[in-house]
Formats: sequence, structure tokens, C-alpha cells
Amino acid sequence: MLQFEHVTKRYETGHEALADVNFTLDAGEFAFLTGPSGAGKSTLLKLIMAIELATRGKVVVNGQSLEKIARRKIPVLRRQIGFVFQNHHLLFDRSVFENVALPLYIQGTEPREVARKVSAALSKVGLHDKAKHMPIGLSGGEQQRVGIARAVVTRPPILLADEPTGNLDVKSGEEVINLFKDLCANDGLSVLMVTHDPVLASMADRML
Ligand code: ADP
Repeated sequence: MLQFEHVTKRYETGHEALADVNFTLDAGEFAFLTGPSGAGKSTLLKLIMAIELATRGKVVVNGQSLEKIARRKIPVLRRQIGFVFQNHHLLFDRSVFENVALPLYIQGTEPREVARKVSAALSKVGLHDKAKHMPIGLSGGEQQRVGIARAVVTRPPILLADEPTGNLDVKSGEEVINLFKDLCANDGLSVLMVTHDPVLASMADRML
């Protein structure tokens, strides 16, 4: 699903953010990406999203090598990647349903399909009964779970999460990890999650 082969990223400043990085993340696999500030975690996520290109080496996302990816193909690539942010980035003037439906509206999905897929995604994260609620009325953990539903509603094969538990208490953080584990085991998703949290990192199957 995700493959890095001898990947080096040197920015224009001459700074080498990543040097000879090698790993593979298969379908259904869950790995934490950890390391101190400046270690290159964001750079690695940016290479997967083709926000930056590798200076050397090969990045392969869902079978596609990004070395010489055409600019017009980048939106197609990004549709295969769900992204969960630390601050969830929900729209507070829209309902939970509308927030989760957003990626489907962008893809031009027809309304009946939108309703079915949003309902499935909200069930997955245990918030089926909150579809009509506004995000402001939800707890931090619930808001993040809405963010996760939005990230998986289009059923991408890859999920990236950048410190998704950074603003949550331990229990809500553990719920998020268990949800990711469920998405890996039952939906075959590949999940790569950046975290600084040593307690959560101990729940890892795999650590990069
Ligand atoms: P992390 O996410 O682990 O904190 P980053 O990937 O943000 O690390 O950064 C890795 C290194 O690359 C840092 O030294 C940072 O200053 C540098 N860096 C990040 N982005 C750029 C950029 N656009 N231009 C130059 N240097 C950068």
C-alpha cells in the first residue's frame, strides 16, 4: 500500500529532512510514526500526499510511484488517502452529517448514496445517533471521531493521522486508536499515525 525505498528529502535550503528511509506498510497494517520535533515526520506525510517530492528514492502509494507523477494526477492520488488532523478541522456551522458528507459532495456523489455512506461511516465510529447534532455540542473525543468518519467516508485504502490524539484525554485517545485498529482489521485500511504520546505508542503493533 505504502512503500518507501531509499528515500531522501533535501529541501532547497540544503537541509536533509529524511535520509535513506525504507519501509513498507501493507493493507490492514497499523503503524505509529514517532520521533522528536524536526525528525522529519511531517515531511514524510507530505511525500505521501505529493505535497513535496523526494529528492532521491522511490515513494509508492497504492501501486503508484510518485517520482514523476503528473500534476493533473495528484488529486486522484489524494482521493486514495484519508487524513485526520490534530484539530479535526470540522465546520462548526454544519451538522455532523454535513461535515462527514463533504468529501462525497466534492466527488459529486448522488444524494441517496451520500446518505447511505455517511450513515455507514457514522456507525463505524459509533456516532450514528449524532448525525443531526452540531459539532459544538459534542465532546472532544466525539468531534475527533466525526473527523475520522469524514476521512474514511470515501473508503480510501490509506489513512494518515497527524497527532490525532494530541488534544484528547487518555480514554478518548485510546478510543481513537482502537477505532484505527478496527479499520485496519475489518476494512483492510493501512493506517500511519504520527504521535508523541509514549502511552499510546505502547499500543502499537509497529513503530517507525
Ligand atoms: P517533524 O514533523 O518531525 O517535526 P519536519 O518534517 O517538519 O519534522 O521537519 C524536518 C526538518 O526539515 C526540520 O529541520 C525542518 O526545519 C526542515 N524543514 C521542514 N520543512 C522545510 C521546508 N519547507 N524548507 C526547509 N526546511 C524544512
